[in-house]
Amino acid sequence: MKTKFLFVTGGVLSSLGKGIAAASLGALLKARGSSVTMQKLDPYINVDPGTMNPFQHGEVFVTGDGAETDLDLGHYERFIDISLSRKNNATSGRIYHTVITKERRGDYLGSTVQVIPHVTDEIKRTVLSLAEGDDAPDVAIVEVGGTVGDIEGMPFLEALRQLRSELGRGNCLSIHLTLVPYLKAAGEYKTKPTQHSVKELLSTGIQADIILCRCEQPLPPELKKKIAHFCNVDEDAVFTSVDVPNVYGIPLAFHAEGLDEKVAAMLRLPAGEADLSGWKRLMAGFAEASGSSVQIAIVGKYVELKEAYKSLHEALVHAGVANRTQVVLRYVNSGDVTPDNCGELFRGCGGILVPGGFGYRGVEGKIEAIRYAREQKIPFFGICLGMQCAVIEFARHVAGLPLANSEEFSSSTPHKVIYLMKAWYDFRKHATEVRSESSNKGGTLRLGAYPCVLREGSKAAAAYGAAEVSERHRHRYEFNNAFREVLERHGMVFSGLSPDGGLVEIMELPGHPWFVGCQFHPEFQSRPLRAHPLFRAFIAASREHAPAGA
Ligand code: GLN
Repeated sequence: MKTKFLFVTGGVLSSLGKGIAAASLGALLKARGSSVTMQKLDPYINVDPGTMNPFQHGEVFVTGDGAETDLDLGHYERFIDISLSRKNNATSGRIYHTVITKERRGDYLGSTVQVIPHVTDEIKRTVLSLAEGDDAPDVAIVEVGGTVGDIEGMPFLEALRQLRSELGRGNCLSIHLTLVPYLKAAGEYKTKPTQHSVKELLSTGIQADIILCRCEQPLPPELKKKIAHFCNVDEDAVFTSVDVPNVYGIPLAFHAEGLDEKVAAMLRLPAGEADLSGWKRLMAGFAEASGSSVQIAIVGKYVELKEAYKSLHEALVHAGVANRTQVVLRYVNSGDVTPDNCGELFRGCGGILVPGGFGYRGVEGKIEAIRYAREQKIPFFGICLGMQCAVIEFARHVAGLPLANSEEFSSSTPHKVIYLMKAWYDFRKHATEVRSESSNKGGTLRLGAYPCVLREGSKAAAAYGAAEVSERHRHRYEFNNAFREVLERHGMVFSGLSPDGGLVEIMELPGHPWFVGCQFHPEFQSRPLRAHPLFRAFIAASREHAPAGA
């Protein structure tokens, strides 16, 4: 097997930025010429995060093949510029589901099915699947969610322990991310939590090879040495992950400390210089962008938890760099928007964005915000539910369909401009897809990448500079073609359609500086150095529109 494995665990507490740290290391190894893939193992019992509340778990990231995954996969894709799939994320729920399915099928031939070996074997199989195929990567980075010591994470750690001895040294490496807090009262850094955490990891049979210390400031060399001695790793195997204002600076910071070099040496990867020109260009772009700014209002209902719009946030940041301007986000709770307070809520904003979402709460506020953007000619970008709301708003206030709504919110309205399409041709599965109201919630979404044909001369086509694109979806409802003609007659342009013309993917309004809605989630494919064309065009328009001095 050519693939080398890097196992990343975390200790002390959660939210240390393990996903970004792992992705940054992946980016560096890629810059050194290795092909890299990543995998996230999540200890929770949900089969995937698709049904989880964004308030609890943050965004659900969708892969091209239609898997609903942990938001860390978004970091992996953005930092390493790879396209991941279903096999790059597994949960305890999924592993158990597979094991129980096998048990019911009789695959275990009557034996007692147990966590060890059956569940751990399934985990190992999942991890090793990354190394299969002709295009197996040089390095697979596997991140275990949660914190060492969590009961539910145990089977994963046991599986990794076994893999370590089976793969042998030089073929795998264990990196442990911990916290080194600074105690103001004592005026010093404290290494005890790290020592305990490494010991906790060791109690599962895994000796950390590299320790990555999250801390406020760079650690002095003698402290790193102390950690190395107490935690039984090489003196030069303790690194820091310092708090930074911009996460895209992390790969360069890791490199400056020599992290990629140490990992490459320990894994016996080919020696060579890392080509960091892209990362340097990006940071130069950020520096250039810092001179000007544009405010964008995001009108949604998950505004209290920024993680719920992670990819969206990043896509806006990327578009800012591309336009050499800083994008300042103003999160507006859609529940607060009324016809009377739009002027106040959106004062100073260059653009208004309504992101995706589920459920009726806050929808009327989103519609009011959209009406304001349309009437005041403020650049508007609607994504998924945001597009659906834009269609409803236009139907109600321009096309004379006062009862316009989505079937998601009203099953009885005669003006279901957004509805549950019963049958449509699925270009990804190459088959006709049939849906019904009663089909279970987890399985009826249109998920993953679908082709979209752009209308010549439209704003969308101009932004993309292409005739056909592929974008990722995650929604249940669609635009209702029965209303296409009446909306067109009133000026709406359907500028993106499925190749057979059956599904509306993008709508826009000519005669407005920039008013575009898309049924898909463009944010999933934005990259730091390759801002998504629609976001890029939206920010360009917002910047042009932005009130002076705002
Ligand atoms: N709730 C809408 C639907 O299911 C939109 C989903 C979304 O915005 N991701 O179609």
